Amino acid sequence: MEVPWIDNYPGFENVSGSQLVERMEAHARRYAEVLEFREVVGLERDGGLFLARTPDGDYRARAVVLATGSSRRRLGVRGESELLGRGVSYCPMCDGYLFRGRRTVVVGGGNSAVVDALFLSGLGCRVTLIHRRDVLRAEEANVRMLEGKVELCLNSAVEEILGRDSVTGVRVRNVIDGSTREIGADAVFISIGSVPNSSLARGLGARLDEEGNVVVGRDQRTSVPGLYAAGDVTGGVRQVVVACAEGAIAALSAFEDLRNPYWARGSISP
Ligand code: NAP
Repeated sequence: MEVPWIDNYPGFENVSGSQLVERMEAHARRYAEVLEFREVVGLERDGGLFLARTPDGDYRARAVVLATGSSRRRLGVRGESELLGRGVSYCPMCDGYLFRGRRTVVVGGGNSAVVDALFLSGLGCRVTLIHRRDVLRAEEANVRMLEGKVELCLNSAVEEILGRDSVTGVRVRNVIDGSTREIGADAVFISIGSVPNSSLARGLGARLDEEGNVVVGRDQRTSVPGLYAAGDVTGGVRQVVVACAEGAIAALSAFEDLRNPYWARGSISP
């Protein structure tokens, strides 16, 4: 939903995340009932079934596919939560327009940070990209596009986001010589990766890796029989096309297991 543009989803040369989601949603509604705004707050075993608990009632199912994605990682510095919505943002697509023509900072060194920085520059913001190492992690093709558009501030860790009622800048520490300085900014966009939303899987005792991603086999089966996972919650290559493909595999695995419940299908060992 939040990415400004996607240019590597097959069949769409250039599409915004929200446009692609709209198309997918309309497509899904032709085949399935879509229940919105019902947060699954718990997922349990109930005899041979799963029980998904929501504030509006419980749902029972013989199979569950988890496609709960991931959430933005927090920087964890002073000012981040205090100034959230008052200059601190995790979503340039949502909030960038408010800072047209003004000074912005993007924190991070991956593809997301670079795409975010380019998007803000395209809106007419003055952008400084702050990264903690001497090289960006992002793909070279993306990094090349920054030239002449975005100022780079490397080897720098953000120590604090400054401002009382709204953001006025950041204080960064040079990780080589330990010196600190302030960079003035009206907005700080934090783009330092994500953490998987795997608490439902954890609650069921599914195997997770050391980063909290749900471990799946090539068939998207988890270590819990009847539970499948697809997309960013499983880690790996975080691209829409991969999530879609994994979703298709998960659905087919679930279908196969429901059709042949007495086959001992090898879900990965816990
Ligand atoms: P990412 O690749 O994990 O990069 C996260 C960046 O944030 C890294 O540069 C990391 O620094 C930095 N970071 C992490 N924690 C930090 C902290 N506490 N303080 C300061 N910096 C911190 O995440 P992403 O950029 O969100 O990308 C996620 C996935 O989506 C990747 O696989 C990426 O390729 C993909 N993606 C692709 C495109 C595309 O155009 N192809 C666009 C967007 C995303 P270090 O480098 O020092 O670890």
